[in-house]
Amino acid sequence: MMKPYVPSVDRYTPAKYRRCGRSGIQLPLVSLGLWHNFGGVDTLENARRMLFTAFDLGITHFDLANNYGPPYGSAEQTFGTVLAADLRPYRDELIISTKAGYDMWPGPYGDGGSRKYLVASLDQSLKRMGLDYVDIFYSHRPDPDTPLEETMMALDQVVRQGKALYAGISNYGAEETDHAVAVLRELGTPCLIHQAKYSMFERWVERGLLDVLKKTGTGCIAFSPLAQGLLTDRYLKGIPGDSRAAKAYSALKTEQITKEKLAMVAALNAVAGRRNQTLAQMAVVWLLRRPEITSVLIGASKPEQIHSCVAALGRAEFAAEELEEIEKILGHN
Ligand code: NDP
Repeated sequence: MMKPYVPSVDRYTPAKYRRCGRSGIQLPLVSLGLWHNFGGVDTLENARRMLFTAFDLGITHFDLANNYGPPYGSAEQTFGTVLAADLRPYRDELIISTKAGYDMWPGPYGDGGSRKYLVASLDQSLKRMGLDYVDIFYSHRPDPDTPLEETMMALDQVVRQGKALYAGISNYGAEETDHAVAVLRELGTPCLIHQAKYSMFERWVERGLLDVLKKTGTGCIAFSPLAQGLLTDRYLKGIPGDSRAAKAYSALKTEQITKEKLAMVAALNAVAGRRNQTLAQMAVVWLLRRPEITSVLIGASKPEQIHSCVAALGRAEFAAEELEEIEKILGHN
């Protein structure tokens, strides 16, 4: 028998939150995503420990998608198992999100942006997690073959049905976002949040998207803030056996860990060291320098990594010279 989980009574004392656009929702500065390390191939006990560690640190937001695993659906199952056993009493303290948009089941209705796919997928997600509703339901990506109006109507529908409290979009470009937000507003369901890839190595959001989000009062949650682990000290001495890059099914391929990237990582690591931080910690707070960023959505393979990312918040300010040095290392000036 596993010991029952009792959350830290201090979980909200040092925790910090930011308002998500012009909405009533505040999100923790660091949120936890379940893309990797929560699947059927992973250890349930480690997944439990990571979820408890996060909640104990005031992380109230957990991000999922229909196909997180592997296998597809298994991260939602893991989350549902832990929720049923331990987190159920705290449901009203949690913001749980899921998504549909990428490949999920065979045939023409298990991928893309159709109303058929999104509505059926959310029903499946709710079953896997044992939930009546999720807090945020996302269109995981724009589908060029489906009218944007249809995808937005699906989000509006699930919100009106009470299966999701808020609607979100992910991976939509700046112009598409402007359009999607306008359609949702017209339908009467505002767009709460945009989930976008953003890190020192991935700056596309700075070229228009963040302006659109600011203008429209939409929140932004930055995914893969550590470039899947590359923006840490993990790969400076080779590829550790327990790292994401070492896993056959992972999205971080060893080819992406080039000599040039590693040289940048080493230089950034030195800047972080002078700030008395690890590179992972500096990469998290560097994103929060932008007020448009509501939350930084990390992944983790161990509870200690979550601790360390949250501890970074204690050293969040940057001197102008530090920011300049980082830009220089990244080749931006
Ligand atoms: P990160 O960039 O944060 O990478 C996470 C990895 O970084 C961990 O698995 C771990 O690597 C390493 N790491 C984390 N903390 C530390 C630390 N303190 N010190 C050293 N290494 C550390 O994020 P992910 O790529 O995992 O993405 C985060 C979440 O974003 C996902 O879970 C998902 O919810 C969401 N996402 C959304 C997408 C979308 O299209 N909307 C796409 C991708 C992600 P290791 O495992 O090697 O230990």
